[in-house]
Amino acid sequence: MNNQVDRAHYATVSPYQDSPQSIGHGATISAPHMHAAAVESLLPHLLPTPGSPPRRVLDIGSGSGYLTHVLAELVGESGTVVGVEHISALRDLGDANMRASARGRDLLAAGRVRFVVGDGRQGWVEQEGAGAGADGGEGSWDAIHVGASAVRLHEELVRQLRAPGRLFIPVDDDEAGGGAGNQHIWTVDKDAEGRVSRKKLFGVRYVPLTDRPRS
Ligand code: SAH
Repeated sequence: MNNQVDRAHYATVSPYQDSPQSIGHGATISAPHMHAAAVESLLPHLLPTPGSPPRRVLDIGSGSGYLTHVLAELVGESGTVVGVEHISALRDLGDANMRASARGRDLLAAGRVRFVVGDGRQGWVEQEGAGAGADGGEGSWDAIHVGASAVRLHEELVRQLRAPGRLFIPVDDDEAGGGAGNQHIWTVDKDAEGRVSRKKLFGVRYVPLTDRPRS
């Protein structure tokens, strides 16, 4: 997928094994095949396009920071990627893992990647004021990746997509909760005219997108 980013900087145990690995705080770094599937799905909205505005990408539940780094490589020099974590220790982990490589340090220093603390279910809006983050506006995103399983397709995330833009999100099948824990990847596309369509892709197993833990 992207040979420039070494998973060993992002997972201390079995970094190259094709399965999720614990990164503490009940979180895991996703398996390589899941990162690959996410990038493949989002790719048309990641690569820089001549004549288009610089890419802006949101990585919700950035965890290890591995995918955040890969996304930053793909959006090119003009693009920016923001990683959102609701656990500040994991925000710091992503940041520290990127600092393990000279390239990661450069991307952070250039402001091409930032890790922030917030509830990813609200997306992330950098500019204040009316309309910030809304359809195609300054604060909106070409691509939003969600790395934890949601109970629903959060409308606020769809609202913050550019037109065109794509949301990649694992969603629990049983919206009422308490089910067998089955989940599927969904993509939500906003086309150039702002029309929204959704697609259910394949079954997955992610940690949940939740409220912030109390401790
Ligand atoms: N993409 C990451 C996945 C980490 S696991 C990686 O491959 O390393 C999922 C992450 O989602 C966890 O780190 C968890 O802390 C985070 N998370 C869960 N609920 C969240 C929320 N409401 N807002 C932001 N992050 C959340």
